[in-house]
Amino acid sequence: MKEVLELRINNTFSTLLPTSIVGDDSGPVTKIKIETGTPEFQSVKEIAEKVKKEHTESFFYGWSIKRNYNKKEIEHAALFHLIISNVFEPAGEECGTLYDETADCEICGSNRKQLTPLTLKQNSIPKKDISQTIAGEIVISEKFVIACQQRGLKGLITNPIVFNKGNSNFFQLIASSQAELSQKTIAGINPFDLSISNEGEIYKCPKGHTIGLNLLSEPYLLNSPSIKEYDFFESVQKTGIKRGLLRPAPIYFCSPAFKKMIDEEKLTGFAFEVAHID
Ligand SMILES: [Zn+2]
Repeated sequence: MKEVLELRINNTFSTLLPTSIVGDDSGPVTKIKIETGTPEFQSVKEIAEKVKKEHTESFFYGWSIKRNYNKKEIEHAALFHLIISNVFEPAGEECGTLYDETADCEICGSNRKQLTPLTLKQNSIPKKDISQTIAGEIVISEKFVIACQQRGLKGLITNPIVFNKGNSNFFQLIASSQAELSQKTIAGINPFDLSISNEGEIYKCPKGHTIGLNLLSEPYLLNSPSIKEYDFFESVQKTGIKRGLLRPAPIYFCSPAFKKMIDEEKLTGFAFEVAHID
């Protein structure tokens, strides 16, 4: 597996980059790609820490981690991390979905209870077989639901979505079971900052609900019966924080049979990385 970090460097500081790193300068930012674990990664990490200490402006604005696997790594994977990249608004709460937030964790905002069917605005849903609202509500197509039923995949609860105008043929996807993340799973603010709190927000809930703001590593799970029994499930622990409509969200996992279905049925909106069992 090759892990590459993409960064959008603030051009105020791009001259600090080692000459061995050639980026793509687009005016206010320079986009760079560096493989993790290399000397270049280490030197960029040191610059990021130095800038954070000495300046109020950010060294970089955006970041993302891309993992590329070879064929063998994909074929031999016992478990996958399911990534839903299409995110949309408005969220359920803005369209009339009712939640009970009285039992929310006062630190991280986890544990709200959905009281009514997920209600959304018809035209806001991406034309994909899976997507999610910014509040983490997962939306799936009828085609996806039928494919899962035909193949007898386990662990998926699919409830009809209601539109506030017109008929819906979309469903909300909920995991029926959970598994515990292991300590090997790394989360933090960004790849150079593993802080568990910032400006009054606590990203690693002392009650154990959340492990950090963003997932930074491939996920690792403690072995549990859920892993063998279900084709789809979620992590017990979440990442993120309650902020406006945002809520902490679990990490989703799926079996090789689930991934095979997505590939064979050419379902859209899904991305996969390898997940590990500790
Ligand atoms: Zn909490």
